[in-house]
Amino acid sequence: MIVAALVQPVGADPVARIPRHGVVREDVMVASQTGLQDWVAGFRLRAQADGISAQTLDDALTGITFLPQVLDRDLHQNEFTKTIWDYLDKAVSDDRIAAGQKALVKFGPLLTQIEARYGVDRQVVVAIWGLESAYGQVRGDISTVGALATLAYASRRAGFFEGQLIAALRILQAGNVTPARMQGSWAGAMGHTQFMPSSFLDLAVDFDGDGRRDIWGDDPGDALASTAAFLARWGWHRGQPWGVEVVLPAGFDYALAGEIVHKSVAEWAALGVKAAVGAVPEGGPASVLLPGGARGAAFLIFPNFHVLEHYNTADAYVIAVGHLGDRIMGGPAIQASWPRDLRALTFDERVELQARLTAAGFDAGGADGRIGPLTIAAIRGFQGSVGLVADGFPSLDVLIRLR
Ligand code: CA
Repeated sequence: MIVAALVQPVGADPVARIPRHGVVREDVMVASQTGLQDWVAGFRLRAQADGISAQTLDDALTGITFLPQVLDRDLHQNEFTKTIWDYLDKAVSDDRIAAGQKALVKFGPLLTQIEARYGVDRQVVVAIWGLESAYGQVRGDISTVGALATLAYASRRAGFFEGQLIAALRILQAGNVTPARMQGSWAGAMGHTQFMPSSFLDLAVDFDGDGRRDIWGDDPGDALASTAAFLARWGWHRGQPWGVEVVLPAGFDYALAGEIVHKSVAEWAALGVKAAVGAVPEGGPASVLLPGGARGAAFLIFPNFHVLEHYNTADAYVIAVGHLGDRIMGGPAIQASWPRDLRALTFDERVELQARLTAAGFDAGGADGRIGPLTIAAIRGFQGSVGLVADGFPSLDVLIRLR
């Protein structure tokens, strides 16, 4: 699972490229390996006070290596943003749909058991597996302890990553996996469905009953069951949709779009909101979501959408999981076209957009580069004030109009 970061991109200025703890990046390998060892000495005391044994610490931390590439990823991850259509093209490709359909057959009996025990629809579990690790093919080969120690030592979110490192050590101490086998991706997410260590401790399960919660090995059983347990914990409603593509009527009031407005399917139908294909299923209180603005596809989203947000809060991720699951089960492609002539705003442009909206009297809730509900409301307010379609979409047009 991806951990959202709030990191300013670093510029070319060498002074700006000196992270906390005084490590000069040009000299990063030598200085930081030594620095990491010093940091580990202090960390051991804190970890032991937190119940991690000296033996576990010896096994996990002896010979630990500073991983500069992990730090680089953490610093740069927010510089690049994709449009939802570029993201969906990759996330829900024909190959990924076909591989998901194969997985559904190959692991059918296992998925039937998991569905029965946790009440989570199999296609959703398979879709998360498909997105997180390409159905187990790309589980990550970075030492989880090495990555988390590097981040706890030298990243701007040191406290968060130290907590995850302690959680990883608890997992080792309980004998679920050896340090050598505890591998994953750069930010500490592990195994088939990329659990962070703290989520593992809370919610991973030993589905095959061998005494270990093993999400790292070739057998995906524990990992898929753990993912189902995670979704069940957050209230997944079996048999209900995450969302459905809809067509909005001409003259739709865009003030009704967004996750704060909830109406029943019947109420939306009375307003002229129709399914793009077939009928709108029942799935509880629904909101209209326009992830590509008024010129892109529209969705009605249901409570299960918000369950998936616990895995990853990005709308694009949740739509990709839901849509991939639907497609694996033979559902239709997204019918509407996307405004592919538009590009995503850069981080700096998003910050500028927020600052200019606030300066123009539309409170964007700060200028952190994250487009949340307050920023969307501010964009809507501005769009309405200048006679644009008030869909709240952060387009370059809006930014240019504000300049
Ligand atoms: Ca097991």
